[in-house]
Amino acid sequence: MSYIQDRSEFAAGTTTTRSAVESFIESIETHNALNAFLHVGADTARSAADAADERFSAGLARPLEGLVVAIKDNISATGMPLTCASRMLDGFDPLYNATVVERLIDAGALLIGKTNMDEFAMGSSNETSAFGIVRNSYDPDRVPGGSSGGSAVAVAAKMCHVSLGSDTGGSIRQPAAFTATYGLKPTYGRVSRYGLVAFASSLDQIGLFSNSIADMQLVFDTITGYDPMDSTSVKDASPLPVVEASASRIAALPLTELKGCDQEIIDAYSRYLDALRLTGATVEDVTLPYSALWIPTYFILATAEASSNLARFDGVRYGLRSESSDGDITTDSRSQGFGSEVQRRIMLGTFVLSAGYGEAYYTKAQQSRRLISDAYARVFESYDAFALPTTPTTAFRHGQVKDPVSMWLSDYFTVSANIAGIPALSIPFGTDSKGLPIGMQLQGTMFGDERIMHIASMLASS
Ligand code: GLN
Repeated sequence: MSYIQDRSEFAAGTTTTRSAVESFIESIETHNALNAFLHVGADTARSAADAADERFSAGLARPLEGLVVAIKDNISATGMPLTCASRMLDGFDPLYNATVVERLIDAGALLIGKTNMDEFAMGSSNETSAFGIVRNSYDPDRVPGGSSGGSAVAVAAKMCHVSLGSDTGGSIRQPAAFTATYGLKPTYGRVSRYGLVAFASSLDQIGLFSNSIADMQLVFDTITGYDPMDSTSVKDASPLPVVEASASRIAALPLTELKGCDQEIIDAYSRYLDALRLTGATVEDVTLPYSALWIPTYFILATAEASSNLARFDGVRYGLRSESSDGDITTDSRSQGFGSEVQRRIMLGTFVLSAGYGEAYYTKAQQSRRLISDAYARVFESYDAFALPTTPTTAFRHGQVKDPVSMWLSDYFTVSANIAGIPALSIPFGTDSKGLPIGMQLQGTMFGDERIMHIASMLASS
């Protein structure tokens, strides 16, 4: 369901925001078993919708009036709990709005609820939530991807117009690929992280899911921009001008580099490159050096930063406090509050930062981060975008990927954009022989977010 289409009807009075909200709430109820939401603010959304309808009839509608948004539950919105899908924060009431939430509300959007996710955004399948797995709306026996799986399903199953997620290593793009939605991870620093619970601060980025590029562009315009509350927010970001399809130059991975992918993904990738060529773009094979370093670099940096960021959950300041009186409050609270994936990351991160190992792991990972970023920068001297699959497979079954390292490998195509800080977009691109959605990716140069969205819109209309 596209907001832009709905909005013209809200403005013309042929339908109302209130009736759109009612149909979203009905879809949430019908699809309750998918477990996409951790909190639904139905009554607040209903009264906000009535207020939006009054503004439409008074001719006072703001740019996003009546846009219905679902928010990943690691982004702070007052009046709704903020849990990060963790027992550690069960029932926590946040005191302020994230900047993105503030901007959306000021522009007229209304919040419908908070979406389920992997605990503290760590995962690729939405199986690590303390409040139950999320199911894929295309096949409930399969995962929706993670960690923003709830936000992806909410958009795919028409429970809202758009949703916000966070992407540290692919958590927007991978679930977008598994649910036939568009998913954008913006350039690092273009969207404020104020009010996002940190996982790995140098990689985390808030972004969004939508059913159309036009909706995505509109909402992105509202949430992007400098925020003094986020020290990594970019002050004078000048978005790169879009390039007309006929003049755009796209780098592609040679098919031989897709070794770990399912054959159906490889076939779809070839069709994707053909479709890009049909828009008039020039597509050429480019070998990106250091791709073998993507996953190890990501998992060292992400776990190191996570071990430091999650130190604040100590059972004293906020969050779960262990009732046991005989042990150490902090150790007991963390053992009870955090699930096994979060504990695994904290232990690994503590190890790679520890004396004697810091140089061997963390410093090395910082050095390979530089190599990876420089390799991208060289590609973008000659190309406007880089085309690659979003995921090596389509949605897998719940419980199918058992060992953590295989799960981590499913992020192969997504983590490098976070390492380099560049924008990346997952585009729905047909289905496999089981009818499961396939996603293809476009990565862009720094500040080239609009450019990749433009190429994607050409693809959709060609
Ligand atoms: N799947 C990746 C991980 O588990 C990415 C998570 C994310 O982007 N938040 O670290």
